[in-house]
Amino acid sequence: MPLVLTRSAALQQRAEKLFPGGVNSPVRAFRAVGGEPPFIERGEGAYLWDADGNRYIDYFGSWGPMILGHAFPPVVEAIQQAAARSASFGASTAAEGDLAELVQFAYPSIEKMRFVSSGTEATMSAIRLARAFTGRKYIVKFEGCYHGHADGLLVKAGSGVATFGIPGSAGVPEEAAHFTLALPFNDVPAVETAFEKHRDHIACIIVEPIVGNAGCIPPAPGYLEALRALTKKRGSLLIFDEVMTGFRVALGGAQELYGIRPDLTTLGKILGGGLPVGAFGGPAHIMDQLAPLGPVYQAGTLSGNPLAMAAGIATVGHLRDHRAEVYPKLEKLSAAVADGVAAAAEVEVPLTTNRVGAMFTWFFTPDPVTDYAGAARSSIDRFAAFHRAMLSAGVWLPPSQFEAAFLGTAHTDADIAQTVDAARQAFAAIASKAGPEE
Ligand SMILES: *Cc1c(COP(=O)(O)O)cnc(C)c1O
Repeated sequence: MPLVLTRSAALQQRAEKLFPGGVNSPVRAFRAVGGEPPFIERGEGAYLWDADGNRYIDYFGSWGPMILGHAFPPVVEAIQQAAARSASFGASTAAEGDLAELVQFAYPSIEKMRFVSSGTEATMSAIRLARAFTGRKYIVKFEGCYHGHADGLLVKAGSGVATFGIPGSAGVPEEAAHFTLALPFNDVPAVETAFEKHRDHIACIIVEPIVGNAGCIPPAPGYLEALRALTKKRGSLLIFDEVMTGFRVALGGAQELYGIRPDLTTLGKILGGGLPVGAFGGPAHIMDQLAPLGPVYQAGTLSGNPLAMAAGIATVGHLRDHRAEVYPKLEKLSAAVADGVAAAAEVEVPLTTNRVGAMFTWFFTPDPVTDYAGAARSSIDRFAAFHRAMLSAGVWLPPSQFEAAFLGTAHTDADIAQTVDAARQAFAAIASKAGPEE
């Protein structure tokens, strides 16, 4: 049954006159999957309702933050109570220390931190700090990893390994990306070669320890350990960008899961429980390079905003207090949906399923996906057809093959059964339309 999206279509028409592409963040426009993007009116638990009253099971959670489900009552209450005391002061509040102590508890590598208002701010500030601390200019990032939209980080790899950065966006001068080395993920020799070539000039490696922004790509065994050892040996800092993985794959993120201690960590998404919060942190002697103690400038009018802190405290506090139930439950539900959908595809629609905890991607390719090049071999057309069919069946998936899917504590076994059913029908339709060789 096709979706009725009459009101959404009218809202989209208005939005297109007001916002480029009708959106305030590009992937929301559904260009990668086609069709009209539904406008969302409200959410509760695992469900979203659009402006036409259609209900969806949400496997996206606002790109990650809504791990406790939408409108989780303790989070709603915390925001309401904070709002009644005024939305902002531009002066310090106790709530900042409360959230910071929760972060410290989960991330022992973070002695001191700064709160900011987005993941983008967290990563660009962490890089500035790493450059200042080491007195070096080059940074290493990996192909397919997204670290926000700051100039020097918007670099996809060129064709060669360890070539100079080529800006991935118009409006970024080549010079701004000149010091960014973009290397393939899960490839230790590529990193060794870069360190040979640039010796004492690499300030840091920044990495999504589990890639989420090329779809879900786990680190190969020993890969993160190798990055840790190489950076230590060469006097560079290792930055784990845990904006997505933080509080998601474990309370203490990928660094807890794999037992690796990075120098700096960036957080966001779940940290704010749906409100705009990011953070970066690490050892005191590095963090104290920031103004007003040190020479590295970094600031924010709304940093540590009381409403955002309240939502973060309610969310992270709940995760900490209930971690013994929350993470096993997420693991069990995620395995059920990831494996259930994979099994529904059978042989007619070859899939590769990657998953770490409640973070997963069905790649429309039969080959293993261990890096961006592997992810890019997926059939984008098949993914788009799958996305549209699932949406019509009331299942909200990320609107791109290159985004990880998530679930949260509000999802039920019944939701998962409904999802697997919808997937079986979607795959049957894809197989009959396209044939095995698309
Ligand atoms: C989402 C994300 C960012 C950017 O965060 P914003 O809040 O969108 O600026 C940075 N790094 C990673 C790994 C992310 O997933």
